[in-house]
Amino acid sequence: MLIQEGEMGTKVELSRREAIKLFSLAPVAAAVKTEEGKKIKWAMFIDVDKCYGCMACVVACAAENNVPIESFRTWIERHVFEDGRVVFVPKQCNHCENPPCVKPCPTGATYINEDGLVLVNSEICIGCASCVQACPYGARFMNPVTGTADKCTFCVHRIYEGRLPACVEACPTAARVFGNILDEETEVRKYVSHTPVQVLKPEYGTKPKYFYKNLPKEAAR
Ligand code: SF4
Ligand code: SF4
Ligand code: SF4
Repeated sequence: MLIQEGEMGTKVELSRREAIKLFSLAPVAAAVKTEEGKKIKWAMFIDVDKCYGCMACVVACAAENNVPIESFRTWIERHVFEDGRVVFVPKQCNHCENPPCVKPCPTGATYINEDGLVLVNSEICIGCASCVQACPYGARFMNPVTGTADKCTFCVHRIYEGRLPACVEACPTAARVFGNILDEETEVRKYVSHTPVQVLKPEYGTKPKYFYKNLPKEAAR
């Protein structure tokens, strides 16, 4: 039996058989193949074994991005197993290559930029929340201050200045690795190429660019 605690304190109980039936993990190393004409594809790698749930990333993200209280661009799930093992799993927007949040947006406010970042143009977001409902990962929320859709941007304002995302910089154990996955010299490329990695809900065909090492099947939602 697994007891899962989400960031809002919700608990879901699943038998191991149910969990295996519901969640499938597939290697996704093929995702790193170079795409002709593209030079940058931002991605993040999470080593689940290195995360100990300190929440430094959550706090850093909130401070960097003015995330309102009780809203989250990133959160940490805590999974407790019968044998007493505790696993922490960071989650946020996966910057999917095939993102279901883009098409339902009636104004084009949610879009994919030239480097594969899925972003929101708050100037033309009308607050209809269609994208929030369409995201299968619960990665979006309506910002109660701006009234527009909000989520992780991979800290776009920092990375184009050559800085790391705030959550990556704040992590004391280097559980988070970020970079251009098309550049063979980057750590993120090396990790994703040479390590068996998993993504959330691969069966949805969303092609996340947020890769995990040692993600428990029970957390692949
Ligand atoms: S995780 Fe959700 S919000 Fe992020 S790109 Fe994918 S579908 Fe869109
Ligand atoms: S990349 Fe930036 S916006 Fe996204 S979770 Fe990390 S700190 Fe927050
Ligand atoms: S800062 Fe690093 S170790 Fe702490 S919760 Fe975030 S990912 Fe895990």
